[in-house]
Amino acid sequence: MSKKEYILAIDHGTTSTRAILFDHDCQIKAVSQKEGGVDYPKPGWVEQDATQIWLDTLAVMADVLNKSGIAPEQVKAIGISNQRETTVIWDKKTGLPVYKAIVWQSRQTSDICDRWKKEGLEDMIREKTGLRIDPYFSASKIVWILENVPGVREKAENGSLMFGNMDSWLVWKLTGGEQHITDASNASRTLLCNIAEVAWDKDLLKAFNIPEQLLPRIVPTSQVYGTTAPYHFFGCEVPIASVVGDQQAALFGQLCLEKGMAKNTYGTGGFLLMNTGKDIVRSNNGLLSTIAWQIGDEVIYALEGSIFVSGSIMKWMRDELNLFEKVGDTAEMAIRAGTTGGVYIIPAFVGLAAPYWDDKAKAAVVGLTLGTNHDQLIRAGIESMAYQAREVLNAMEADAGVPIQVLKVDGGAAANDFLLQFQSDLCQVEVDRFKVNELTALGAAFLAGLAVDFWNKDDLKIELGQAFKPERSKDEMDKRYRNWKEAVKACREFKP
Ligand code: ADP
Repeated sequence: MSKKEYILAIDHGTTSTRAILFDHDCQIKAVSQKEGGVDYPKPGWVEQDATQIWLDTLAVMADVLNKSGIAPEQVKAIGISNQRETTVIWDKKTGLPVYKAIVWQSRQTSDICDRWKKEGLEDMIREKTGLRIDPYFSASKIVWILENVPGVREKAENGSLMFGNMDSWLVWKLTGGEQHITDASNASRTLLCNIAEVAWDKDLLKAFNIPEQLLPRIVPTSQVYGTTAPYHFFGCEVPIASVVGDQQAALFGQLCLEKGMAKNTYGTGGFLLMNTGKDIVRSNNGLLSTIAWQIGDEVIYALEGSIFVSGSIMKWMRDELNLFEKVGDTAEMAIRAGTTGGVYIIPAFVGLAAPYWDDKAKAAVVGLTLGTNHDQLIRAGIESMAYQAREVLNAMEADAGVPIQVLKVDGGAAANDFLLQFQSDLCQVEVDRFKVNELTALGAAFLAGLAVDFWNKDDLKIELGQAFKPERSKDEMDKRYRNWKEAVKACREFKP
């Protein structure tokens, strides 16, 4: 193994696309990032331009090599982590999408989901996929495009279109149209995959009326699938050696490789995942069962608590309310506020996911007074991430039957010290943040590096950066949590 080789991780998240070069010491050598556009064409709808995502990917790959001075031949392999569930259908011949990418947060398919619920499909879906009927997952997004974009159903049936989540889209582009694949972790988020068999489920495809020829081939999470087309990667054929959903990537990046280990990510959404080993653990508390990864023939599963709006509450406060310029300044504002003055923000902008799964819930700010000020609102926004995380943490503990002693965190908003201290107080647990916060990218890099023998398992390491320990009393924090629960109740009862 030469010291001069690197693994390139492409971390395509909802908010931004990043290219990160990791060296053999698991350290970041260079990062390039581009914040992408998100459209909200109608209330509750969330869409992105898949072609723009591809162009952003090309741009960050060029930029990261350019600024690091690392030659493309020094890239030993590429690993890809991606926002999951987000759905694009494109034309095989032209490579152009037939419609925008429908983002995981979007609620535009809620009528289709209501239809499936009425048809009594819920139990079969839960049993086979570990998920539930919700617009969150890809299946209803595929059906929406088939039903709403003229000419698409016919083309889908005659085999001239392809479906993919962002992983399939990027791999197909990078390989110059050679590979139409998805890995097991991404497949498990479509509502089409039988997670015990790791295969597309014929009964589900039939119930949803989705032509199988649209679908990519399901492959393991860590394996060389093909190489970059030289014209897309600076004249080089570099192996693409991992593809993994972003939350599963973070679980791997946090080295939660043993059964019972858990992590929490504060990104656009919030996601608490626990490794459940080779067992599919079924939740009684509103969590999902999902595939963590497949390496060779071994499939590892996870329990997941998904929160639709976590860090993106801050993006909303910045972009729609103009409350501040930089999210990085908000921790200081929250500390300056002292308390929220009794204000709670329930960020049910696109309904509520775990543990409620209430797609009709509406977002709310409760407890305002004439004295409520700017900093208190910001503090309430940050606190909402922690309250939601406690809800899924408690659900996870109930399902697992054991308390989580230490919460390992990452994601964009984990840079916020106030959030992590508040989280530690609220849950009365230690909250650990690592020196490298890019654990999603690192997870994809680890999986790619293992596939090409750049690393073996013993080489993988992350260093603790800061541990936040409880400073406030359990009684005080439990009281606030009870108020939060009251606020959630009020927001769920509001049915305009
Ligand atoms: P994704 O992978 O989903 O694109 P990231 O993990 O990059 O998301 O996190 C980005 C999100 O985190 C944004 O919604 C942003 O508002 C939020 N965020 C980033 N930095 C901070 C911060 N210091 N405090 C609070 N929120 C933050």
